[in-house]
Amino acid sequence: MKGNSTITLNQSAVRNNVAFLRKKFGKNVTISSVVKANAYGHGIEHLVPMLEKEGITHFSVFDFDEAVRVSKSLSSPQNIMIMGFIADNNIRKAINSGFEFYIFSLARLNIALEEAKELNIKAKIHIEVETGMNRTGLNLQQLKQAITIINNNTQHLEIMGFCTHLAGAESISNHLRIQRQLKWYYKLLKLVTDNNITPKYKHVANSAASIVYPKTRMDLVRIGIMTYGFWSSAETFIQYISTRKDKTDPLKRILDWKSQVMSIKDILVGEFVGYGISYQAQSPMKTALVPIGYSNGYSRSLSNKGQVLINGKRCNIIGVVNMNMIIVDVTNTNNVKEGDEVVIIGSQDDLEIKVKAFSDSSNQLNYEVLSHLPIDIERIITQ
Ligand SMILES: *Cc1c(COP(=O)(O)O)cnc(C)c1O
Repeated sequence: MKGNSTITLNQSAVRNNVAFLRKKFGKNVTISSVVKANAYGHGIEHLVPMLEKEGITHFSVFDFDEAVRVSKSLSSPQNIMIMGFIADNNIRKAINSGFEFYIFSLARLNIALEEAKELNIKAKIHIEVETGMNRTGLNLQQLKQAITIINNNTQHLEIMGFCTHLAGAESISNHLRIQRQLKWYYKLLKLVTDNNITPKYKHVANSAASIVYPKTRMDLVRIGIMTYGFWSSAETFIQYISTRKDKTDPLKRILDWKSQVMSIKDILVGEFVGYGISYQAQSPMKTALVPIGYSNGYSRSLSNKGQVLINGKRCNIIGVVNMNMIIVDVTNTNNVKEGDEVVIIGSQDDLEIKVKAFSDSSNQLNYEVLSHLPIDIERIITQ
């Protein structure tokens, strides 16, 4: 261990998850692996080659900088799609690099067109339409104008996609809104195809939609959270599993997060432990210090709540989570020594700390816990 903790990434878990998704979607659906937010905290530079090794050829990111990082991590050129932000002065570079990107405003369409003309390279665009999430996308009026612009400039634009984003497919409470979105999507799609524009990929689905609404798979699915071995919500998992004989989770977590015992201390009865008075020893006890804190993505809301694994035992965090440290109760754990392994996420013997336990007790989404994992923690790939 070089730093205060290590993240291990498991290749066979990546293989398992990609194989599951492939089998589920069939060979006519392209899987785009969503690796925004540093590959959901896993690390773009490590995870992208692991996905490439399992045959993934399409990657989705939020912004231009991430696209550059993905591109540098690949061993051969693959498709990279930017779903969100590109500074205007990077659009030229995006086109030059062959990145695909969303068009959600006429201003961006016009800039892309100008740059494509100057470069004499076709801009690879995905037309994103507003269907009811009210986040990004062209509305009907803007789409009509975009169609005219596109049809006047077919030599400079390659229409890679026609897409939208669904407002919460992971929860049944959004069912009606999503049905309305899909209906509107198909209406707008008809307008586009009636005007002789044939997008290569029609796509709307993220992980949840791809499971809950199979019709949304269309030509391409944008799969983030399931790639990493998690379900978008408990509901999504139940929806999947309810129709299966085998009730075991087909997805595997890729990531483990481990640290080590930094020092050990004996505490007298009645003493307060850590900052303030949030924890008082009710009997003589032994504590271990672990060099992980809220600056490392270990939420302060896990104070007096979180658990870690040491020497095959579940140990409680006592007192508040510090900026760089947590204090753990090891009174009933035998032979704890400095340097012993501490599992923050992952397994030890037959025990496991799941991201779910972590996210539930800190009131975070698993997406949130993962994406807060610091970029500078050492990452190791295991087979
Ligand atoms: C993040 C994102 C996805 C992937 O979502 P998951 O729930 O992680 O599968 C898909 N599409 C868009 C537009 C996104 O922003």
